[in-house]
Parts: sequence; structure tokens; C-alpha cells
Amino acid sequence: MSQSLIIFEPSGKVLYQVNNKISPFNDLIYSIVNESHTEHNPGFYTTSANQKRFYALKKGNLYAALYFDVVTTLDNAKVKSCLSGVLRTYATVTEEGTEEKLPKLVEYQFNQLMKLKTGTPVATTPDRATKTSDSKVEKTAKKKGKVMRKWVNGEMVEISADDGALDYSEGKIDSADALAEEKLVVDNSNFQRSDDLVLVSELQDILGDSDSEDEDKPAPKTLTSTFFGKISSYFGGAADIDDVSKKFYDQLISKNIAPPTATTIIDKIKTTIGKRQVTAAEFKSVLTEELTKTLTPNVSTDLLYDIKRNSSSKSRPYVISVVGVNGVGKSTNLAKLAYWFLQNNMNVLICACDTFRSGAVEQLKVHVNNLQRLNSASATSSKIDLFEKGYGGGDHVVNTAKSAIAYAQEQGYDIVLIDTAGRTHSNAKLMAPLKKFGDAANPNKIIMVGEALVGTDSVEQAVNFNNAFGNRRNLDFFIISKVDTVGDLVGSMINMVMATRVPILFVGTGQTYTDIKKLSVKSVVEMLTR
Ligand code: GDP
Repeated sequence: MSQSLIIFEPSGKVLYQVNNKISPFNDLIYSIVNESHTEHNPGFYTTSANQKRFYALKKGNLYAALYFDVVTTLDNAKVKSCLSGVLRTYATVTEEGTEEKLPKLVEYQFNQLMKLKTGTPVATTPDRATKTSDSKVEKTAKKKGKVMRKWVNGEMVEISADDGALDYSEGKIDSADALAEEKLVVDNSNFQRSDDLVLVSELQDILGDSDSEDEDKPAPKTLTSTFFGKISSYFGGAADIDDVSKKFYDQLISKNIAPPTATTIIDKIKTTIGKRQVTAAEFKSVLTEELTKTLTPNVSTDLLYDIKRNSSSKSRPYVISVVGVNGVGKSTNLAKLAYWFLQNNMNVLICACDTFRSGAVEQLKVHVNNLQRLNSASATSSKIDLFEKGYGGGDHVVNTAKSAIAYAQEQGYDIVLIDTAGRTHSNAKLMAPLKKFGDAANPNKIIMVGEALVGTDSVEQAVNFNNAFGNRRNLDFFIISKVDTVGDLVGSMINMVMATRVPILFVGTGQTYTDIKKLSVKSVVEMLTR
């Protein structure tokens, strides 16, 4: 059996091909261009004929097509996303004049897609928890069952995190089959594995930002149904800046931006505009620029590069600690980070420094077991293990972290990922130990996981965690979790970044190990202003 991928023009001119065994492939191209096929979405076709199967995607004046010489069924959405990525890659390298990169970049995406066909194991966290044999964990979990929150019709409601939630305090997956049965969720834009990290980061640049991908977005709202459409027609033309800014202020508040933060933003826009009469379009344009500037990191977010450089300098392993309020998704997102590192051939030691909440160590153990199984079934040469010294208070956390770092150095781990106890940001007694921990572990990066759900309180959470490590140390990044549950109410990102100037490294978009994405600043700003 063979499979091929080609990029071609409707004229039949082949621009690039991978594994091409189609002979003569002009027949295929002719049939794609001229014959009718099942059109799943505009421009995306598939058909089977004579025991052969092909998929094709047309964008502008280019086609990318995938061909199998036996009937093969793949998830249409994955094929479409791959072909779309391939066309975008082609467009980017030809625009930049860097065509020499094309083979590596395209073949990588092609190979990732082929893994789906061959049943490569699942990159997902299980959503079916079976009961653990550890009665201690079980009892604790019952007592402390986590509650998820979700926005419903503008209100935050609490839902039980039972079925389908990644709450491992309730149990563990004890069957490898359970893992293998899960639907494969591989997000090419975030979890590429490659010997060449430069290649991975290039692909992330091309594919990671979904801004240029518009075909999968729902049809845009009609202008009059959007906030901006409504106020444009309300004002008609230029109006008093106070009236226009009041409307924009209300809009920011409705998106979950805290009132003091919204006031600061609006005042700044008014000063920048500097005149009395303004149109809604002028106001929106300055606001868009300001929000974009706020969310765009002013430091490098290329962690892989940093870690690789650290590993080659043979100094101590790269240490990352994850902090945040209880239940925001610290351990889940730590596990997502770990999976990303594993996929990039890095050795990861997870250190259980939540030595306070019973069940926390076991919860991490479950993540590590899952990741070990996923990793052993993939082609990576990386390893992941758990370092734990049980439960304890006071100096136990500091000792555990120090021992983990020393152990990782001895055993050749590239990264130590330290989970910490969740704590209430407004409780000074609980926050105080963070400084001692930071001084002792001296992490290369401290990442706070904050929930997209949290709203106004996000300002205080971010500020208190940012200040918890003393005068000379701050948070390095945020991961904003549960973005999948808030729709376009994404204001807490602005709250947290404006209050601290700490950039967002990733957003958490669900409960599988690949549900972590690079922030699309453009999409967030659009959600806040449209
Ligand atoms: P921790 O106490 O901060 O370590 O929180 P956990 O990692 O245990 O996560 C708490 C709950 O949030 C679990 O049910 C997770 O599955 C869920 N969770 C974490 N991240 C996300 C996310 O990005 N999206 C959604 N929908 N749920 C998440």
C-alpha cells in the first residue's frame, strides 16, 4: 500500500509531492479538478474509486491532495486540517522565498497524519475513571470532590467534575486498553515531535496561530448583530468621546474584564485619541491596538529553545514550577506541558511538591503512568518519571524539590516540573511559604495557572502570586486554563496580564493532554471588541 501527497495548480502543474507513486498522476489531478465528488465542506472533497481513495482541499488557486492506493478511511477533519496546514506552509515558504524548508515541513505534517492511519496511541487523557484500589485516595476524593465551574447564559454555575472530567483524585485508569480506545487527539500546532526543534518552532509559527485559518470558523456574525455593528449604527458617525467610550467600557465589562482594568484601558484610549468627537471605528481601532500590545509578550516564549540551550550547557536541569489557586488545573496543565516536552524528546522528571492535600501525589502518579504509556508507544526516546517523598509540611516541600533537582541532574533529566500545593491567594499564611520554596528551588520559570472562568478576582490572584516570591522574583508566565468553557468571555486574560505584565505562555482548551495551545492574540482581541 502506498500513500502520496501532492500540491498542484488547477492547470495540472505539480508544485510539490511526497511519496508520489501515482502513475500517471495527471489522471488523478484531472479527476480532482474536473469530476464531481463528495464535497464535505466548501473546497474539501473525498472519493473512492477502483479501490483507491483520495482527499483534496482547494484554497485559492491551489490544491493539496492525499491519495491512497487502497480504500483508507481517515477522520475527515484531521485530513482537512493537515491539507490546510500543508497549503499554508507552501504559501508561507514561497512568500518568504524559503522553499528549501518545504520538504521537511510538509513531510512532517504528512507523517503525523499517517500516524492516525496506523493507530498510533492516543494522546489524550482518559475520560473514564475507574475506581482506584487505594482506599485512602478514594475516601479523600469523595470528601474533596472537585467542582468545575462553567459560564452558562452569562452566569457562572458549578457542575460536578464527575464524568468526563480529568479529576484524578477520584480514581485512576488501570487498563492500557482504556487508554488505547480513546480517540486520538493530536494537535499538530502544539505537539510536534522532531529531532530538529527549529523545525518544530517554524511549524508552530506557520500553523500554531490560527489567525490565518478562516475556513473552519463559523460564519461571521452579520455586522448589525455584533456589538460593533450595533454601536456603529447607533452613533451613525462621529460622536462625543465620552458617549462612545461608555459603550466600549460596558462591552469590556460584559467580556469579564474587571471594572478598574476596563477604566484604565478606556482612559488610555481617550488620551491617545485626544479629541472630543470620534467614530466607533476610530475608537475600536485604537482599542484593538492597545489590547494587542497588552497581550503580546515582550519576552521570548520559546521554552523549547531555552531548555535545549540549558541541556547543552550541562548545567543543572531546567526547573519549572507551577503555582495557582486550588482546582484551577495546575496538575492537569503540568501534565500537558510534560507531554509536550516528551514529544520533543526531552526527559522529564515530575516532582510532587503538593505534599499537603491528600491524594495530590497519587493524582500526579496517574498522570505520569498515562504519559509513560503514551510515550512508550510513540517513537520518542524520551522518558518521564515521578519524584515524590510523600506528604509533609514545613521544610518537607523544600527538601523534596531540592532532592528532585539533584536526582534529575544525576539521572540525565532535562526538565524538572514541580507541582505545588494550591493555595488561596488572599491567605497570607498560605502564600508565605512560596518565597522560601522559590529561594530554595530557584526555578528557571515559575508559571501560574489561572482560570479563564475567574473574572474580577483574577486581578488579585495574579498580583498576589506575582508578589509572593519576593522583590527580586516574579512569575514568568501564565497558563490560562479552561478557555474552552467561557466562549468569548476571555477578559480575565486581560485582567491578569495588565495587572502584572506577565505574558501568557499557553491557554488550556480542554481535558486531554494535547489541549494546550499558543495564544492567538488576534482572536482574543476580536472576541473582546466585535
Ligand atoms: P489543580 O487542583 O489546580 O491541580 O487542578 P486539576 O489539575 O486537578 O484540575 C481540576 C479540574 O479542572 C479537573 O477536572 C481538570 O480536568 C479540569 N481542567 C484542567 N484544565 C482544563 C481545561 O483547560 N479545560 C477544561 N474544560 N477543564 C480543565
